Amino acid sequence: MSNHRSNAMSLFLTRPKWSKPADNRKISTYFAENVFTESKLRTYLSNDAYKAYKHTLTEGKKITRDLADQIAAALKAWCMEQGTTHYTHWFQPLTGTTAEKHDSFFTLSSSGSAIEKFDGDALVQQEPDASSFPSGGLRATFEARGYTAWDPMSPAFIMDISGSKTLCIPTVFISYTGEALDHKAPLIRSLEILDKAATGVARYFDRFVNKVSATLGWEQEYFLIDKAMYYARPDLMASGRTIIGRSPAKGQQLEDHYFGAIPDRVYNYMVDLELECHKLGIPVRTRHNEVAPSQFELAPMFEEANIAVDHNSLLMDVMDRVARRHHLICLLHEKPFAGINGSGKHNNWSMSTDTGTNLLSPGKTPRNNLQFLTFFINTIKAVHDNADILRASIASESNDYRLGANEAPPAIISVFIGDFLTKAMETIEQRVDKDIKEEEENELKLDIHKMIPDVMMDNTDRNRTSPFAFTGNKFEFRAVGSSANCSEPMMVLNMIVANQLIDFKNKVDKHITDGEKKDSAILIELRACVKSCKKILFEGDNYSESWAKEAAKRGLPNIKTTPLALDALVSKKAFKMFSELNIMSEKEVEARYEINLEKYIKKVEIEAHLLNELCINQILPACIRYQTDLMLNIKSSIEMGFNKSNMKTQYELLNTISTLINGVNEDVKKMNVELEKAHKQKSSREHAIYLCDKVKPLFLDIRANVDSLELYVEDKNWPLPKYREILFHR
Ligand code: ADP
Ligand code: MG
Repeated sequence: MSNHRSNAMSLFLTRPKWSKPADNRKISTYFAENVFTESKLRTYLSNDAYKAYKHTLTEGKKITRDLADQIAAALKAWCMEQGTTHYTHWFQPLTGTTAEKHDSFFTLSSSGSAIEKFDGDALVQQEPDASSFPSGGLRATFEARGYTAWDPMSPAFIMDISGSKTLCIPTVFISYTGEALDHKAPLIRSLEILDKAATGVARYFDRFVNKVSATLGWEQEYFLIDKAMYYARPDLMASGRTIIGRSPAKGQQLEDHYFGAIPDRVYNYMVDLELECHKLGIPVRTRHNEVAPSQFELAPMFEEANIAVDHNSLLMDVMDRVARRHHLICLLHEKPFAGINGSGKHNNWSMSTDTGTNLLSPGKTPRNNLQFLTFFINTIKAVHDNADILRASIASESNDYRLGANEAPPAIISVFIGDFLTKAMETIEQRVDKDIKEEEENELKLDIHKMIPDVMMDNTDRNRTSPFAFTGNKFEFRAVGSSANCSEPMMVLNMIVANQLIDFKNKVDKHITDGEKKDSAILIELRACVKSCKKILFEGDNYSESWAKEAAKRGLPNIKTTPLALDALVSKKAFKMFSELNIMSEKEVEARYEINLEKYIKKVEIEAHLLNELCINQILPACIRYQTDLMLNIKSSIEMGFNKSNMKTQYELLNTISTLINGVNEDVKKMNVELEKAHKQKSSREHAIYLCDKVKPLFLDIRANVDSLELYVEDKNWPLPKYREILFHR
């Protein structure tokens, strides 16, 4: 019998082998060759212009039109040499992907001759037709269109798609009245405020510090499956996950995939992907198998957070593009398959100074250690005070399937720091003022440097179940979803840490004004922080049920679903922090909240419609056909004189599948009724909550019956590729 599934199987089996030879050049010879790096800018720009450019950037000033013209000319000269024909403002709207609108350099001069043109105007600002991007009502309110504005901090790059080259200019996307309509604008604002706040505190320890940058190293998990399987699964195509599908006999129980050899086909993909990444200046370094079958991970060297976010967004596009030319599909959904691990995107975050110090790295001297402890403890305090906003920053319909599922970080935000640092925190907490005063400056008893091996040991033996873990010289925010844009969680983390550092500095300065020595003042405040935030620390198994109970006792929030988790974004506390730190106005935050809710609603509704469609026109017809086969078999057997007792198996099967079929049909009807009711809810919040509480549970009921049918119905009649075919065929 021929169906989508059997077609997919034969396509899969006749895949041509990837034949492009590997590029054996040293990576350093082509790294960033498609990027207009600063060294290229320097070559193409006059000395004076280059100096002016550097000055403008370090001062955080606006680039003048004249300078923009010169940079545009330099960019144009470089990319024409590379054979680039088009350019685009590249931005990250709130839809979750990247957006671009290509313009040609080609134009007609006033005399009518063909020329290539690109000037400062084209570089600095563009007006994409923005009406179709989500704005949470911002554009409607202000009757303003959106425009994209050049981000000179992130270098332009050339996207080469089958030889056709486009210059991509990283931009922010904002409304004419200045409201952020994208992921990047608030991120940049948060980086600026973190810089100010952290520099102030870092100067307690080193007065030469002038700038602190947040650093980000993401680890991207993904699934890779054959393209034919993907196209034979409407659920994967429309929602990125399998909404039905029975777990295979062999899943990940044997855990043989994790350290297994990377299959040839996947290996070819990875090599090709890395080549593309390297040309684009994305410093990808590690590749390996993950726990689930067909799951992999790739991670770069960390970079300044704004660049790292751009690189991750770019990577997600490139991963998809490269996969397709290998007849593969890269799945970034947090939970494409039930019953096996989901995918995350660990965000490794730290702060580093322009003097080259990682502020979260335990130092080699007592002085460094006090600096380390200051930033370390303030970060924990920030997470403690704002765990709800941090939780909101990673809330999405797809991440709900992962958070709290028993192999992923729970929705409870806690911090893991390891034994040694736990002891250090206790020591600080137990100090009394007298102790602190008696300690000579620079003679702190917390000689962390002597204990570095212990810190390292904690680091290697670290807790894989923690949503927010200290891993030696950085914090690792693990609850971020694999399909997320990193900027949301990074923006919130930067903001809450900045807010905390500002508060900390005010208090320390006050102690100093009151006559306290600087280090004592710092220690007094650190102790206060530890006292008030230690309940966020947790070293045990975050997947365990006992932790959920313990966390509840400690009063830590455990909000499992997006519609409720998002509330924290629009709390009084959040509004105040967003606006006081100039990251987003109340209106901007509200707009974002609305967009997130809308996104949630749309995604659940898409899945509901999909499930309805799959059941009605694929699953039930296939099952009913098999039901008919069984009935015909019974009928003809009886006609041939068999008696009923000889037909026991057929009757049993018939009964089972008939019950399951009716179950599916009833639940689908129920789901459609609830879907209608959801629509009638008064606000988008209530709409989302209704879908979450009343519609989504029916997905599971329907799925349970469908997955049983997958077992009972004859294999060759089953219309959709099965898990074993999707996951183990490569
Ligand atoms: P794993 O967590 O898989 O053991 P590593 O500890 O080697 O991997 O690093 C994970 C990620 O952390 C990498 O992407 C790396 O670039 C990043 N990283 C390392 N140091 C920092 C830092 N100071 N700031 C931000 N990210 C960092
Ligand atoms: Mg990892």
